[in-house]
Amino acid sequence: MRTLLLSLSRNKRLRKWMETSPLARRLAARFVAGNTLAEALAVARRIQADGISATLDHLGENVTSLAEAAASRDVYLQTLDGIAAGGLKANVSIKLTQFGMDLSEEACRANVEQLAARAEQLGSFVRVDMESSDYTDRTLRLVEELHARHGAVGTVIQAYLLRSKKDVERLCDLKVRVRLCKGAYLEPPSVAFHKKAAVDRNFVELMRLLLDRGVYPAFATHDERIIRETERYARERGIPREGFEFQMLYGIRRDIQRRLAAEGYRLRLYVPFGRAWYPYFMRRLAERPANLLFLLRNLLRH
Ligand SMILES: Cc1cc2nc3c(=O)[nH]c(=O)nc-3n(C[C@H](O)[C@H](O)[C@H](O)COP(=O)(O)OP(=O)(O)OC[C@H]3O[C@@H](n4cnc5c(N)ncnc54)[C@H](O)[C@@H]3O)c2cc1C
Repeated sequence: MRTLLLSLSRNKRLRKWMETSPLARRLAARFVAGNTLAEALAVARRIQADGISATLDHLGENVTSLAEAAASRDVYLQTLDGIAAGGLKANVSIKLTQFGMDLSEEACRANVEQLAARAEQLGSFVRVDMESSDYTDRTLRLVEELHARHGAVGTVIQAYLLRSKKDVERLCDLKVRVRLCKGAYLEPPSVAFHKKAAVDRNFVELMRLLLDRGVYPAFATHDERIIRETERYARERGIPREGFEFQMLYGIRRDIQRRLAAEGYRLRLYVPFGRAWYPYFMRRLAERPANLLFLLRNLLRH
């Protein structure tokens, strides 16, 4: 089912139909803040009132021209400005394929550098999401370079990749902020653990490494067992609650979100917005096919 949903996420016809269907858009509202920046800023303001911060993600991956890449960069510049103007505790998450990585590494770097410079100026932060393993080396190279120049840039490490421990150690040495997640793409066994137990074990090992040696690490998961283990390990090592944050996706496991915020843990929600929401939405369904039932129930109700 997961593989089917992930391959449907790349189907162009279905994508076009879904992204222009008002009904499908309403169903996606559980996971996506809205089509516009104003809607995303409104969500960030609302969750901030509950003690939760945000990272805003303008949806859209794999642009096909440098003009589109520049347009993505401009949306993100406006997003950083909107966050600052609204006095919000929020930052941004970007994907390099949206900034032109498939077309020109150099142009992509120049686009991200403009954003990093603006984030540095505003005292904000740019998180570079990690895409499939084809991009891992290029992503780390770019992040390390821009971090050295601007500071306001960090990235993501996926616990399912076999290489991740080495990458975490290097990023800790370079003092680059890391978000640890399990990983969301289909990867071959030559590069990734496939058994959930192995991925979870690696997540816990990397979590400990990051709490011991990382700079303000972020743990991005809805896995209650891992979240509890992170809380336990931080307590055992005397690491204060301000020394790290949990991150979760907007609309997912709101019960855990409420508990963490109520108990004084730092929590940041990944808040996606924009018209190109279909691939993101399908990845969320693929992670939890039970969400399909939720979707079908809603479809039947309309
Ligand atoms: C803030 C954030 C940023 C991320 N950034 C990246 C990135 O840059 N690159 C990348 O590859 N991946 C990224 N991911 C996705 C991540 O890799 C996983 O695919 C995703 O978080 C699901 O894994 P999990 O850790 O929640 O654990 P799982 O083992 O998948 O799930 C644990 C439990 O969480 C709940 N759950 C998980 N997913 C869902 C869902 N869709 N709907 C309902 N319940 C759910 C269920 O209760 C499930 O039992 C990010 C995730 C988060 C939270």
